[in-house]
Amino acid sequence: MESRIRQVSKSAYVIVGAEGATNFSIVKGSNGSAVLIDADIRRIDEVEEALRTTGCSEVRYLIDTHEHFDHTSANYYFSRRGIPIVASAGCAAAMRADGRPDFERMMKPVPELYHRFEGLSLTLPDKIFDNETQVKLPGATLHLKYRAENGHSHSKGDTTIYFEEEEVFIAGDLLYTEVHPVTFFGNIPNWLAALRPLLQNRYKQLVPGHGPTVEGEQAGQGYFKRMYEYLEDFHDHLQEIKTGRKTREEVAEHMLAGGYSSLGKTRMVERNINQFLTGGWY
Ligand SMILES: [Zn+2]
Repeated sequence: MESRIRQVSKSAYVIVGAEGATNFSIVKGSNGSAVLIDADIRRIDEVEEALRTTGCSEVRYLIDTHEHFDHTSANYYFSRRGIPIVASAGCAAAMRADGRPDFERMMKPVPELYHRFEGLSLTLPDKIFDNETQVKLPGATLHLKYRAENGHSHSKGDTTIYFEEEEVFIAGDLLYTEVHPVTFFGNIPNWLAALRPLLQNRYKQLVPGHGPTVEGEQAGQGYFKRMYEYLEDFHDHLQEIKTGRKTREEVAEHMLAGGYSSLGKTRMVERNINQFLTGGWY
C-alpha cells in the first residue's frame, strides 16, 4: 500500500493514505520549518520521507485533529524530540480517559514497534486549547477550531484547521471522501450538527481525514453535502433496526448500494452497524 504526497498549494502537502487510510498534512513556513498535522507511528517512515522530500528543515509543531490512534500514535515520537503537540481540550481529555486501552489494542498487531521505539506509549498533547487558537510559522497562519458538537461528534476532539494564506481547509475525520466513514466512536446527530456550518465554508483546497483531497469550494461543498446525507441516511436506517422495521442485513445492503456503491472501505459498514447495536454510545 503506497501513499502519495500531494502538493495542494504552494506550501501545503498531504500524505494521502492508500485506499482511504489516514491523511497527514504538512504546512511549510517560508523559512523551511513545518507544522505536521496528524501522524501514525505505524506509518512514521512515510511521514519522515514526506518531510524530507518536501524539503522541511524541522517540525515546529504537531497538531492532533482528534484523539484516534491513527491520528495521534506518533505523538510519542515527536514529543521525544521536544516538539510541542497541539490539540483541543476535548481531544486531550478523551485520550486521558480512554486512550490507553485503545493504544494497547491498536498496537497488538505491531509489537515490533515497541522494540523499534523504546518507551513507546500513549502521549498526550501538551499545548491545549478550548475553542480556537492559532499556530504560526513565518508566512503561514493556521486557525484551529474545535468542532465536536456537544463535546462528541466523529470523536470528542474534532478540530478543523484553516491555513489562511493559501486557503486550505483541513477537516479531519468530520469529512471522509470516496470511502465509508468510521462512525462507531461517534455520535451521529452531533456530527450532523458539526457539519452544518461547514456546508457553506470557503476555501480553495479541502483535505478530508480519509480519502482524496478536493480542489475548489464547489466540489468541496458537494463532498460535505454527500457526507451529511450519508450520515443522515445511515442514522435513519439505524433507527429502523432499533424499531424492528429493518434487519441489519437490509441496512448493510442499502449502505452498499446505489450512490454508495462506489465508496471504498466497505468493511466499515458492517462494523458501524454492529457497534451501534452492541456499543453504548446512543
Ligand atoms: Zn477518527
